[in-house]
Amino acid sequence: MHFAGVDVGSTTTKAALLDQDRALVGKSLLPTGANVVRAAQQAFQLALDEAGLEEHDIAYVVGTGYGRYKVPFGHAQVTEISCHARGAMRVFPGTRTILDIGGQDTKAIRVSPSGEILDFSMNDKCAAGTGRFLDAAATVMGLTIEEIGPVSLTSSAPLRITNVCTVFVEQEIMSHMSRGRKAQDILRGVHSAIAGRSLALMRRVGIDPEVTFTGGVSRNPGMVAAIEERLGAKINVSPLSQHLGAIGAAMFAVERAQGSPAPRPLVGELHVVGGH
Ligand code: ADP
Repeated sequence: MHFAGVDVGSTTTKAALLDQDRALVGKSLLPTGANVVRAAQQAFQLALDEAGLEEHDIAYVVGTGYGRYKVPFGHAQVTEISCHARGAMRVFPGTRTILDIGGQDTKAIRVSPSGEILDFSMNDKCAAGTGRFLDAAATVMGLTIEEIGPVSLTSSAPLRITNVCTVFVEQEIMSHMSRGRKAQDILRGVHSAIAGRSLALMRRVGIDPEVTFTGGVSRNPGMVAAIEERLGAKINVSPLSQHLGAIGAAMFAVERAQGSPAPRPLVGELHVVGGH
């Protein structure tokens, strides 16, 4: 028997499949695009294909993310706050604070040692400080989203970027470029500005170690370094970080199907790096 989590985000849709021992057996990731229902179906099918399973092998599906009510095959919906917290604690059981930076919003979440959500704060009013802000910075500099983080890490003289608004930051970057400033110094400033905003959001909920960074932006090594620099401490990042919402949803699917509301944290089967 297997269990699925489908995380329909504003930018990407992720699916994760767990077996009854909560080991990850399949996952997928694709752009959400305009047809949210189709994205959910495709992500589910791709994860099934990766695992070599059929739809009837899945006992329970939990949808999460902004499009969680558009998962037509979902048995239940759980908020992304709960799912990211559950996914983060699955990989890093010592997690007390979660920073989730996705395509269009940023969340800070504080959890108790047993996984209860103690507080959360969310920036979803504008793109400032989210993946979209970094996507815009990459585009204006003629680089890919995968390139900007590593490039920023080569800077030895970061610029101070004053704008956190996506529209104005494009103008600010172009003005620095026209004055011949180095791409790495501009980008280090961009990453540092977002890290500053993220820290402010985390302080609203209180920052308890360990801090686990989730969401697509946690795949950017420049953001990880900028946050660690501002925080003055190491943070947890997993290679599965963009899937932790879907994995958390699949954890809820296991519990709901088994009728056990209490979280049973298990560690070990997932490939984990970067724990501190
Ligand atoms: P959603 O809010 O849809 O759940 P995600 O958590 O999937 O979004 O995050 C999407 C964002 O992650 C993109 O806007 C992009 O900025 C960033 N991102 C995705 N993949 C990478 C990568 N390989 N390197 C750096 N950044 C990435």
